[in-house]
Amino acid sequence: MSFDDFALHQRVAAGVRAAGYHHPTPIQLQAMPAVLAGRDVLGLAQTGTGKTAAFALPILQRLMTGPRNRTRALVVAPTRELAQQIHDSFRTLGQATGVRSATVYGGVGMQPQIQALRRGTEVIVACPGRLLDLMGQGHGDFRYLEVLVLDEADHMFDMGFLPDIRRLLAALPRERQSLLFSATMPHDVRHLVDETLREPLVVSVDPPPAARTVDHWLYPVPAHLKTDLLAALLRHWDARRVLVFTRTKHRAKRLAEQLERRGFFSANIQGNLSQTKRQQALDGFRQGEIHVLVATDIAARGIDVSLVSHVVNFDVPDTEEAYTHRIGRTGRAEHEGDAVTLVTADDADMIRRIERRLGERIRRERLPGFGYDVAPPQRLDADQRRFERGGSPNTGGPAARGGGRRDRPAAGAARPQRAQRRGGRGRRSGASANRG
Ligand code: AMP
Repeated sequence: MSFDDFALHQRVAAGVRAAGYHHPTPIQLQAMPAVLAGRDVLGLAQTGTGKTAAFALPILQRLMTGPRNRTRALVVAPTRELAQQIHDSFRTLGQATGVRSATVYGGVGMQPQIQALRRGTEVIVACPGRLLDLMGQGHGDFRYLEVLVLDEADHMFDMGFLPDIRRLLAALPRERQSLLFSATMPHDVRHLVDETLREPLVVSVDPPPAARTVDHWLYPVPAHLKTDLLAALLRHWDARRVLVFTRTKHRAKRLAEQLERRGFFSANIQGNLSQTKRQQALDGFRQGEIHVLVATDIAARGIDVSLVSHVVNFDVPDTEEAYTHRIGRTGRAEHEGDAVTLVTADDADMIRRIERRLGERIRRERLPGFGYDVAPPQRLDADQRRFERGGSPNTGGPAARGGGRRDRPAAGAARPQRAQRRGGRGRRSGASANRG
């Protein structure tokens, strides 16, 4: 089956060509006929499956007829990054249609968003908090709303947005088409489905085929050598598209800084950054100026960074589902990728759970020549000790005040990987733009 079989308006079909899509993905094949027919759909599919186009194309098709200058479609997403990405998809796919899309999310100025709502932009892609704020101030006219999409509903639930979603639903016309996408179906999301969708078609697709093109590796390492091992691996791979996950925002920031000091083009992306800085980091990564992006789970959600070659779990994820989400960032679109997890003795239980979920034992690996037996340094500043324990945010230790040692000393080991430093090492680039 090809996109031709959907009989899309020629201007919508032009968008499909512009995006470079040749064959519909499984979620598109299953969901699009029903969405085009106006039915409610529950899509059990995660980011990476092509679900955005599965709802964006039918929405564009619908908007080719009927009035413009009215908000007729609303897409609600849990994170700014995902909202931005959906908006970008509408722009690409809808580039020949004249249909307009705008984003509404926090962390950026309200005025352009108020203008977009006032103009009756046909497609609004929003995060719930800011949208409710603006609606509370009397902005946005959703009387003409025809389609509502709730994307990544399980993440909205994780992030505590369900009460916001219910408030939002209460303010929208009841007569509408509703589409809900979720990778998993926790109890509360099931309730939301029952409240929101009318006799939905349920479609379910496997994780993106990409997840199956990923090789998984575990690198056991003492906690105090994690940063050293990561640096050695980065040099060993000489990779340009590495996404590294840490457990907390503080750790993401600190690790990116440590890597930068060691000569890697790195940046961090986490919830404490302004939207502008997050976008700078993402753009830098997409454009290849930043080779190592250090992220928290929430900040990285929904990011579609094609061509990510390595995902590194610097800290093991909190849940086995999070592992799948993290590695969904690599191996997209038929590229092969590596998912590498640094494991300490404390992580054994979570690793077992991840292996159970994957249905396979993950290969244990050692980096040849790495100084695994280097003892922990005698003296660590308090901040570094907390970092190595994987723990709590910086509470103002000496390093935070700028007075203490900012990085762990090299612990005296002559590591062969040092000799492999090459490429862009030493160039201090705009990568630091994302700091702080
Ligand atoms: P999504 O799950 O919507 O985030 O999509 C994941 C990635 O797949 C995005 O980069 C899309 O541009 C891409 N994509 C979506 N549909 C197709 C298709 N039919 N063929 C090729 N790539 C696609």
